[in-house]
Amino acid sequence: MIFEKIISNGEHEQVTMCYNKDAGLKAIIAIHNTSLGPALGGVRFWDYSSEEEALMDVLRLSKGMTYKASASGLNLGGGKAVIIGDKKKLNPELIFRAFGQFVNSLNGRYITAEDVGTTVEDMENVHIETPWVTGISMELGGSGDPSPFTAMGVLKGIEASIFFKYNKKNLKGMTAAIQGVGNVGSNLASYLHKQGVNLIISDIDEERTKKVAQETKAKIVSTEEILFEDCDILIPCALGGLFDDQTIPKLKAKIISGGANNQLVEEKHGQLLADKGILYAPDYIVNAGGLMNVYVELEGYSSKRAMELVNRIYNNIFKIYTIAKEKNCSTNEAANTLAIQRIESMGDLNQSRIIDRHYKRFLRNKSSR
Ligand code: NAD
Repeated sequence: MIFEKIISNGEHEQVTMCYNKDAGLKAIIAIHNTSLGPALGGVRFWDYSSEEEALMDVLRLSKGMTYKASASGLNLGGGKAVIIGDKKKLNPELIFRAFGQFVNSLNGRYITAEDVGTTVEDMENVHIETPWVTGISMELGGSGDPSPFTAMGVLKGIEASIFFKYNKKNLKGMTAAIQGVGNVGSNLASYLHKQGVNLIISDIDEERTKKVAQETKAKIVSTEEILFEDCDILIPCALGGLFDDQTIPKLKAKIISGGANNQLVEEKHGQLLADKGILYAPDYIVNAGGLMNVYVELEGYSSKRAMELVNRIYNNIFKIYTIAKEKNCSTNEAANTLAIQRIESMGDLNQSRIIDRHYKRFLRNKSSR
């Protein structure tokens, strides 16, 4: 049954089922495509209701990473891993060391990092077993918390959107509504406040909301209202699955640019947003700052270099808007087209050169720590 799912899906290069009885580890590592470089993507720890659900999730997420890396101009492939189970009932030290051994066995074709349910500490346990891990602490030569970089990338997406739609460079006096003021949303609120943007915020965590509101003079609204506020920019920074046939007709924002993954319920909803005159910055393009930050770990980490890459999100978004306008398609379709074209145009030549260079540098950096 499960093999049929992978085979009929037919797009992935390699799917590895990982099982270690003593550690209680059940995991799946999916490598979608390595045409542009090693497959880098986080490991998600989630109590899936079935192994099939976990498999479908990892197949979808790893494909998303291929598109994200490609359209962002990174020399990385797409991969992702999931660990199945309730983290509270398992021993994370054992789990992540056992997982690290499986990552190591792939010899650099897959490089792991944090994702939902995993922490810097978990990555450091993986690091005991393998050099093929990013997102470890700065003390160990890693890049630390990616959220400020992700938030800065989202800001670049907002600036590019404002320029594309209004031919304006200044955000002062505009109104932005932020859904979710966690790691990414709170950093973004602070960047926007400094630029003189009027903020409306909402979060299910009341204390966090109050703190951010105090720091940024933001107005607080309920979680039911935030998506439908009358604003220039809507910034989703909580969870995905937001825009569908029911929610899109009620939106009043002119631009959507936020950090949350998978904001569109289906690809067709990108066209519905365009039809309503809303400029949608594809989520995986504007939230690539975190990936760019860990990518720089492969070169030997420098926050200056990471920020240089993040600044490119402005041009990446602008390019996508231009393609969408020329081809009269939705912005998400334009982003997907750009991602696929770059992979196809590179071919096998790129794979061998880039992977080889990354491997040598990365291992040299790791061994000198
Ligand atoms: P986070 O958990 O720190 O923050 C998310 C916030 O959203 C929390 O404060 C939570 O209380 C709030 N929230 C949840 N449901 C909500 C709702 N219905 N209404 C209002 N608020 C709600 O997570 P984060 O690291 O800030 O990431 C935010 C989003 O960006 C996620 O979708 C994540 O996958 C994506 N993302 C994050 C990064 C990164 O570097 N952290 C990188 C790429 C993508």
